[in-house]
Amino acid sequence: MSEGNYSARRVYYERRRRRKIIFRRIICFVLFVGIITGVSIGGVKLYRRLVNGSGDTTAVTEKLKAIEIPDWIDEQLIYVHNTARTGAALDGVKNIVIHYVGNPGTSAQNNRDYYNKPTTEVSSHFLVGLEGEIIQCVPLWEKSAASNWRNNDTISIEVCHPDETGQFNDASYSSAVRLTAWLLNELGLDESDVIRHYDITEKLCPLYYVEHEDAWEQLKKDIGTKLNEYSK
Ligand SMILES: [Zn+2]
Repeated sequence: MSEGNYSARRVYYERRRRRKIIFRRIICFVLFVGIITGVSIGGVKLYRRLVNGSGDTTAVTEKLKAIEIPDWIDEQLIYVHNTARTGAALDGVKNIVIHYVGNPGTSAQNNRDYYNKPTTEVSSHFLVGLEGEIIQCVPLWEKSAASNWRNNDTISIEVCHPDETGQFNDASYSSAVRLTAWLLNELGLDESDVIRHYDITEKLCPLYYVEHEDAWEQLKKDIGTKLNEYSK
């Protein structure tokens, strides 16, 4: 190997080495900036969560507060207590969750008064009664205590039923359809966003509509039909 050839290769390897070093530095810099940005954003989110009890809910709260409650809904908000009504804001509304009260023959008022007891830890946004009456128990922008780990992004509806089967009667059925469709329309959702408590936890709730899949599909269909009336 000649002397000239040797030094040319040295220069070549030296350049390659330097390029590698520069390349590594760029990668390190990009990673560094990425990590710092990530940590900062995470920190801000965590701070908000600690201060507000949830993420950035201000916009969500404002949107939900702007919804006017119609006069066919009887507003009887329970007082802030226990886990039944913590006063914490919803993070958003992704689904409407249908429940049954599980206590045959009880009225919407009975259940609302039960939520309002100092020791009660559960609640729902709405109760639909045996005569089709609808009581609101928790404001739309606040979390209710009905749907386990989905309380943060769902609106809950508990429906009364005359017997152990859990099947809604005609009056409670049509009010549940009316209320759900109204909510969907106000929230810009559709009937595919209506779920059962069962779909979250596999709890047999609402019992009849878990045991009868066809009845559940029909209920959603009826909600969709009603929704079309609202959105016209
Ligand atoms: Zn339930």
